[in-house]
Amino acid sequence: MENKVSLFNTLTRKVEKFVPYEDGKVAMYTCGPTVYHFAHIGNLRSYIMEDVLEKTLRYVGYDVKRVMNITDVGHLTSDADTGEDKMLKGAKREHKTVMEIAAYYTDAFFDDCKKLNIKTPDVVEPATNCIDEFITMVSGLLEKGFAYIAGGNVYFDTSKLEDYYVFSSISEKELMVGVRDDVEEDTNKKNKADFVLWFTKSKFDNQELKWDSPWGVGYPGWHIECSCISMKHLGEHLDIHCGGVDNIFPHHTNEIAQSESYMGHKWCNYWFHVQHLNDKSGKMSKSNGEFLTVSLLEEKGYDPLVYRLFCLQSHYRKPLEFSYEILDNMVSAYNKLVKKIGELKDEGEIEKTVFDEYKDKFVAALANDINTSSAITVIYDVLRADCNDKTKLELIRSFDYVLSLNLDRMQREDENNGVDAEMEAFILAKIEERKAAKKEKDFAKADAIRAELLEKGVAIKDTREGVVWELV
Ligand code: AMP
Ligand code: ZN
Repeated sequence: MENKVSLFNTLTRKVEKFVPYEDGKVAMYTCGPTVYHFAHIGNLRSYIMEDVLEKTLRYVGYDVKRVMNITDVGHLTSDADTGEDKMLKGAKREHKTVMEIAAYYTDAFFDDCKKLNIKTPDVVEPATNCIDEFITMVSGLLEKGFAYIAGGNVYFDTSKLEDYYVFSSISEKELMVGVRDDVEEDTNKKNKADFVLWFTKSKFDNQELKWDSPWGVGYPGWHIECSCISMKHLGEHLDIHCGGVDNIFPHHTNEIAQSESYMGHKWCNYWFHVQHLNDKSGKMSKSNGEFLTVSLLEEKGYDPLVYRLFCLQSHYRKPLEFSYEILDNMVSAYNKLVKKIGELKDEGEIEKTVFDEYKDKFVAALANDINTSSAITVIYDVLRADCNDKTKLELIRSFDYVLSLNLDRMQREDENNGVDAEMEAFILAKIEERKAAKKEKDFAKADAIRAELLEKGVAIKDTREGVVWELV
C-alpha cells in the first residue's frame, strides 16, 4: 500500500517515510507500565500519544498488531541496575504481596486507559509469564559470547559491540563513556555500561519472586523483558517501538544491544519517543509534588477526556507543562466544541467530494509526524465548511476514531433521552449534594455545585416541583 505516514525516528534523528517490513502490516511494541503504583498523568501522556499513533496507522489502512508488556518484576528504582526493586517497594508500602500489588495496579492502569479512550493493545503480557523465554535468550547471549557471569549475576558485555550508544551523536557518545560515574558501582561489571540480564545475587533478602535458572535461583533484569516479549509475539522484525524519552537510555539502548546480538541482525526500524509532561518543578514523578492521577483530576471535577484534549493540543515531541489554568481553558474549549457539534443535524446525505477533501486534510496533518494539533484544527475547518450538517457530523465521527474525544457525545446522548446512565447518576447525586448544602445554609457550596454542573453543560433550576435539570 501507499506509504503515507512520516515519523520522526529517534534512531536517525530525522522525520522519515514510514515503510514497514511487510507491506500493509505493522508490528508495534510499547513499553508497558511498572505496576507498583498508579500511573501519573505524565505516564498517560505517553500512552495517549502512542494510542493516537496506533489509530492513525489503522486509519490510513495498516493492519497493526500491537504488543505491550506489564513490568511486574526486575525494574529497579534507578532504571540502571541499582536501587530498590520498584515492585518490592510497592508491596512494602501497602503490606501486600508483590503479585497482589501487580494485579491491583494493572487493573487501575487499564481503568485509567478506559477513561482516556486508550485502546488496549492486541497483546498484553506480564513479564512474570515469560520466564522461560528470558532464560532462553540469556542462555543464547552467553553461548554467543555477548554475556558473562560475575558474582552470580549474568551481565551483557557492551564492549562486544562496535556501537552500543546507538541513539547518540558522536559527541554525545564521547561524553557517555563515563556516564555511570554517578551511580553506585557494581564491581562485578567488566565495563561501566554493562547491564544485568539475570540477577541471582539479589541485593534484596526478601525478594519474593524468584525462579530456577541455569545460573541459580533469581529473576530477570528489566531490559530483557521487552526484547523477549516483543520477539515472542511479533517475531524477529519490529516496525515501531514506543516509549517515553526517559526510556531511550539505558532501557531502549540495552534492548537493541541484546536483541540484535541475539538475532544477529537489525531488529527495529523506527523508534517513537514521547516527550515528558512536566509540572512547574520539572519532570512529573510519583514521588515529587502532587501525585497527579486520572482519579485526582476526576475528583476535582475534570472529565478525563479534557486531559486527552490537552495532550492532543501539543506535539508529542515537545515537553508539555501541566497547569490547572491550561486545563480549565481546555474544559471550555472542549465544551464549546462538543456543543457546536451537538447542534449538527444528523440527517440527509453525505456530500462525498467535501467529505474526501477534509478527510485528506485530516490524514495529512497526522501523517506529518502525528501533528495532532493541526488535526484538531481540521475539525474547526469542517465546522465552518460549506456543506450540510450530515457531512460535517460524519467527518467528525470519522476523525474521532483517531482522536477518541467522544466529540458527538451530544448526539449519542440525544439517542439516550439526553444523557447516558452514568452521567444521569452523577447529575442526580450532585443535585442531592446541593440540596444538603442548602439545608446547611452553605450557599457557597451550593453555588459551586451549580457551577460545576454548568461546566459540564448541565443547567439546574429550582422550581415549585423541585429541582430540574437540562442540557445547555
Ligand atoms: P513506568 O511505569 O515508570 O515504567 O513508565 C511508563 C511509561 O511512562 C514509560 O514509557 C515512560 O517513559 C513514560 N513516562 C514516565 N514519566 C513520564 C512523564 N513525566 N511524561 C511522559 N511520559 C512519562
Ligand atoms: Zn520496555
